[in-house]
Amino acid sequence: MVTMSLPKRKLAIKNIDPYRCIGCTVCVQSCMSDVIRMKGGKAYIAYQEDCSQCFSCVEDCPREAISIGWIEEH
Ligand code: SF4
Ligand code: SF4
Repeated sequence: MVTMSLPKRKLAIKNIDPYRCIGCTVCVQSCMSDVIRMKGGKAYIAYQEDCSQCFSCVEDCPREAISIGWIEEH
């Protein structure tokens, strides 16, 4: 019998568009899970696996820079 282990997946934030981001830090303040950090005046995803799928950052970003998608859980 062949067994296959499928990767576990979950929704999380997947991308922050640096061209849309204006560096306001709202998303960093919105995130209770400390997923997003700032670097060079732009937000980036530092700890994606910690995303708890609340999507506050997506709703609060004034530039609609943050998108969500499926990620593999490790
Ligand atoms: S809320 Fe949006 S515009 Fe502001 S820092 Fe985060 S990604 Fe950039
Ligand atoms: S969806 Fe929620 S937990 Fe995930 S990065 Fe955004 S604010 Fe943080």
